[in-house]
Amino acid sequence: MDLGISGRWAVVCAASKGLGKGCASALAQEGVNLVVNARGVEALEETAAYLRSLNPMIEVRCVAGDISHENIRQAVVSACPHVDILINNAGGPPPGDFRDWTRDDWLSAVETNMLTPIELIKTTVDGMAARGFGRIVNITSSAVKAPIDILGLSNGARSGLTGFVAGLARQARLTERNVTINNLLPGSFDTDRLQKTLQRSAQVAGIEVSDIAQQRLQTIPARRFGTAEEFGAVCAFLCSQHASYMTGQNVLLDGGQYQGTF
Ligand code: NAP
Repeated sequence: MDLGISGRWAVVCAASKGLGKGCASALAQEGVNLVVNARGVEALEETAAYLRSLNPMIEVRCVAGDISHENIRQAVVSACPHVDILINNAGGPPPGDFRDWTRDDWLSAVETNMLTPIELIKTTVDGMAARGFGRIVNITSSAVKAPIDILGLSNGARSGLTGFVAGLARQARLTERNVTINNLLPGSFDTDRLQKTLQRSAQVAGIEVSDIAQQRLQTIPARRFGTAEEFGAVCAFLCSQHASYMTGQNVLLDGGQYQGTF
């Protein structure tokens, strides 16, 4: 299927590894020009080279820095001639017990996982509407739908973003101008982040990482972790011309882990 987005420009935040890289790769294969961001310059440049190798016809620009900082957000948007597609992403907050979290821990989670995507949406969405095309995808978490005890910072901050997006996405001034905003909710995907959380769980439980991984897999009907490539493919579809009538949705990708009809 031709997704009908060749030649468009996308900003993909937090894209040097994992799910962000998966999204950037799928968009590159569809002929979308990219501005990619992450904090570490070396991995970002390597990913940019990889994206160019996937599709030599596209332009790939890099902006290194923390996307939760205002100057980096400005640099990312300025590097893009016009933002047709925005993929909001950043690192997730650390796990823990809410009794140990300070006000600063909460502010950091809200800043990175709620206010940063909202600021980027604010900067780009009216231009999208004026041009008659826009796709915004926020990478959130299955924890928004089925909260995970130790990820309280994530449950809270991402739910705030989800509530805000639910209202904004339905504004007629956006929907009638072909601008959609959806959230993609990853369950367990095999990325650096997943490996780190498995290692931490194994340490706490005092068992091997492979045993923790097996326990986790038993909770996933697909009996495997997702891949960044399949996550990127769904993201690219949400960005396609075919997904114009789909907005304000929370799309769960979890191999059947969530036990619910809706
Ligand atoms: P990952 O493999 O660790 O990759 C994270 C990427 O984001 C890297 O490119 C990293 O590069 C970049 N990054 C992190 N913080 C950043 C910041 N403040 N500004 C700019 N770039 C930043 O993680 P992932 O698994 O792809 O996860 C992506 C998001 O999905 C996270 O929010 C995570 O919590 C969420 N999630 C993941 C899963 C899963 O199973 N993988 C499940 C639920 C939710 P630098 O470190 O160089 O900046």
